[in-house]
Amino acid sequence: MNEIVKDLTTDDTVTTLVERQRTFFRSGSTRELGFRKEQLKRLRNAITRGEADIIEAVRQDLGRPTSEIWTTEIGIVLAEIKHALRHLSSWARPKRVGTPLLLQPGSSRIEYEPLGTVLIIAPWNYPFLLAVAPLVAALAAGNTAIIKPSEQAPHTSAALAKVIGGVFEREQVAVVEGGVEETQALLEQRFDHILFTGGGGIGRIVMAAAAKHLTPVTLELGGKSPCIVEKDADLDRAARRIAWGKFLNAGQTCVAPDYLLVHSSVKQPLTERIVKAIEKSFGKDPKASKDYSRIINAQHFKRLTGLIGNGPVITGGESDEEARYIAPTLIDNVGWDDAIMADEIFGPILPVIAYDDLDEAMEKIESRDKPLALYFFSKDRTLQAKVTERLSAGGITVNDTMAQFINLQLPFGGVGASGMGAYHGKAGFDTFSHAKPVVTRSTWPDPSVKYPPYRTPLAILKWVTRRSM
Ligand code: NAD
Repeated sequence: MNEIVKDLTTDDTVTTLVERQRTFFRSGSTRELGFRKEQLKRLRNAITRGEADIIEAVRQDLGRPTSEIWTTEIGIVLAEIKHALRHLSSWARPKRVGTPLLLQPGSSRIEYEPLGTVLIIAPWNYPFLLAVAPLVAALAAGNTAIIKPSEQAPHTSAALAKVIGGVFEREQVAVVEGGVEETQALLEQRFDHILFTGGGGIGRIVMAAAAKHLTPVTLELGGKSPCIVEKDADLDRAARRIAWGKFLNAGQTCVAPDYLLVHSSVKQPLTERIVKAIEKSFGKDPKASKDYSRIINAQHFKRLTGLIGNGPVITGGESDEEARYIAPTLIDNVGWDDAIMADEIFGPILPVIAYDDLDEAMEKIESRDKPLALYFFSKDRTLQAKVTERLSAGGITVNDTMAQFINLQLPFGGVGASGMGAYHGKAGFDTFSHAKPVVTRSTWPDPSVKYPPYRTPLAILKWVTRRSM
């Protein structure tokens, strides 16, 4: 295949596009490990070549600073590619497993085969990362893929189509741009797997459409991720790390701390330190800071500014509709039943709830939907173990935010309402592979005991089965 491919057209219908991808998959090329590695390298080269375009596109969509775009959108994808290239041979190698006496002489192994043609539906908040990181996993596992970027980040969607279209034949990897109509047209097709990242509402639509074809889904959803700060926590570190995790991309991060649960004895010193950390990062006027992002669109701006009236503002609260700017905001004395605690905030507003008893705070968390992320700040190892063992969440970081997302040795995904399935590193390879069990038996011996007519007394059968399975 040529390095530069000319086919940038989208004149094929989604039906013919999927059919072309299936035909290509059946050619068997993607099964070869050498081919897969080559595709990953081509993707890496294309991203490196298109870096300036990608950065500019994300900047236009979300007003984000260059260094942040590079690290969170491009850097993580390049790390995924490097990790996959380093480990792919070992991930894909058939694994020998034991064979019970009953099946001897014989051998058993697990072979990893690609699923076929997969669909990746991406959201707008990290519009490059969340489209391309799943693609890395899909290619590593030997699939063909169609990516549907979010129409709400149109510049990145176009940049993605250009970067991918520049190196891949559409029968191998294709970007289908568009909104609801295009996504629904894609969802009518039969795919071998769908990885969807977005909200739970659309996740349900995707899952229902997939059910018609019995297509397995990975749903990377969101939710209200709690951030608990105990009285013994290192408050300086906690404040800095919480402010970073919350206000990165103006809070439009699926694993951002959604609300702060702080022991009442340290609420004031902690919030004072968070205010200072905000000022240190973005200055006295975050609007003038080159390092502070904007809200994606007018609709989300309206939704978010509507949440600010929920309680006394500790800091922030200012907004500018035209600039889609909302200041980093902390809201005090929030109650569990307040409107701001109903849905994921997905913006730069941090409600503060004080607690006196950690067990009660944990009970409150347990009574709600399982979150995508959970953060706990404390130096006490017994308390750390208590929280990580008892509370369920897609992932947990102790004494920092977002670290569970960054370590490619860890599977990333939700649980319960925050999603199903996982990717990143090997988990991504596994998601897009079928672990196929293969048993090879010797042709000899072939005792007649297993065949009808059954003449062996049951007691003997039981004895043999118990000892040989
Ligand atoms: P969304 O659910 O609105 O949209 C995601 C995708 O679905 C887009 O590509 C969009 O075109 C498509 N879509 C929209 N309406 C559709 C419909 N009716 N039928 C079919 N497809 C449709 O999500 P969003 O607003 O882009 O992202 C925000 C949500 O995503 C938040 O809840 C956030 O927590 C979650 N999220 C999760 C992760 C994760 O990795 N778990 C990452 C980022 C965002």
